Amino acid sequence: MSKQGSVILAYCMVSKKHVAVIGAGAFGGWTALHLLRRGVGVTLVDGWGAGNSRSSSGGESRIIRATYGPNQPYTKMAARAMQLWTEHEKRWQVKLLQKVGVLWMAASEDDEFERGSLPVLREHEIVHEELSAPEMARRWPQINFEGVRWGIFEPNGGFLRARFSCQIVAERFMEEGGEFKEAAVLPGGLEEGCKHGLQLSNGSKLLAEAYVFACGPWLGRLFPETIGGMIRPTRQEIFFFGTPPGDSFSTAKLPVWGDHRERFMYGMPASDGRGFKVADDTRGLEFDPSTGDRAVSAEGLQRAQEYLGFRFPAMKDAPLIESRVCQYEDTPDENFIIDRHPGAENVWIVGGGSGHGFKHGPALGEMVAEYVLNEKKSDIRFALSRFHTLT
Ligand SMILES: Cc1cc2nc3c(=O)[nH]c(=O)nc-3n(C[C@H](O)[C@H](O)[C@H](O)COP(=O)(O)OP(=O)(O)OC[C@H]3O[C@@H](n4cnc5c(N)ncnc54)[C@H](O)[C@@H]3O)c2cc1C
Repeated sequence: MSKQGSVILAYCMVSKKHVAVIGAGAFGGWTALHLLRRGVGVTLVDGWGAGNSRSSSGGESRIIRATYGPNQPYTKMAARAMQLWTEHEKRWQVKLLQKVGVLWMAASEDDEFERGSLPVLREHEIVHEELSAPEMARRWPQINFEGVRWGIFEPNGGFLRARFSCQIVAERFMEEGGEFKEAAVLPGGLEEGCKHGLQLSNGSKLLAEAYVFACGPWLGRLFPETIGGMIRPTRQEIFFFGTPPGDSFSTAKLPVWGDHRERFMYGMPASDGRGFKVADDTRGLEFDPSTGDRAVSAEGLQRAQEYLGFRFPAMKDAPLIESRVCQYEDTPDENFIIDRHPGAENVWIVGGGSGHGFKHGPALGEMVAEYVLNEKKSDIRFALSRFHTLT
């Protein structure tokens, strides 16, 4: 069979069900692995490879925490994800997770989010401490706690090696028998339900019994009618500053931190000899994940420097040593989308990480595998239909 126009029979040659997963970021990679372990034949496809720098999962690090406010599914999901990240570190003998703790600072007049987090943390048995401002100042003298009223500390939280984890997941997926293809699924006609398979950028076709599209910020382009502007990629800037000599601003002495003030700022201590990370969670302008300019702005840098000097006084005037521009893929309510395509039972859309999806990868992948294989009914909270009532 010639390569050009060849049909990849990624489905039941014998009796095994085959699923194609498109996108090898945190959502697609883990979904592919969980499907494979349930006895399914899986082809994982990514246009630029697992954890590539354009993808939302392609940063160096992503925070894992369970503090999530009241009435949400994410504390439970984060607890399961933490269990799976830890299990896989042992199983694969690799370091994926740095448990340096997460400090959440309540610095806004309105602390409903933090207050509402406490019963949920207790319900899911997440180890945490409620700390007063003087106690925090005693533990972390590098931080100026001005304006911070109180805080939550999760000692088992921390950060994940993001890009590396995606690459490891794809690698282990292949070792366990999965097929990986570095090729893009061409847009066009997907809304009709993939009845004739997928056209790939290498000229071949991919045919499966079910399809999971986990294409992060690209989902709106692939499904212009079903998703369109419902997932909005936004430009987010991240800065890494050089620390003073010694370990006072490294993982040895500081946890990951989130600062809930007018603008939600967050960051993490220096690790692996790299910089001290500072980022602003405020949603930026709309961004094209394929062609967008990834140079940071002067205003963004100035804001990060001002913040750094205020909250971490010994880091005032610290030099910028690295920077990145990445994108969130925001839904209107910042909740994920995990649902069937309204016109095709066997086509799933999984995305809308909305700036907080990475940590959940292993738990979310497990859930998606259960839904795709009809082991569980999908959760209405992630359904596309919820947006039909929004104006
Ligand atoms: C700056 C920043 C900070 C963040 N911080 C955190 C954090 O601290 N904690 C946390 O939990 N989350 C965080 N997030 C969010 C998290 O990173 C994302 O929610 C998550 O990575 C989304 O994963 P995904 O698999 O849905 O998308 P992606 O990682 O974007 O993966 C989609 C993949 O699909 C591929 N693809 C797209 N189109 C096609 C096609 N047509 N054919 C084939 N392949 C295709 C892409 O190449 C890509 O690899 C942050 C995000 C950003 C940008």
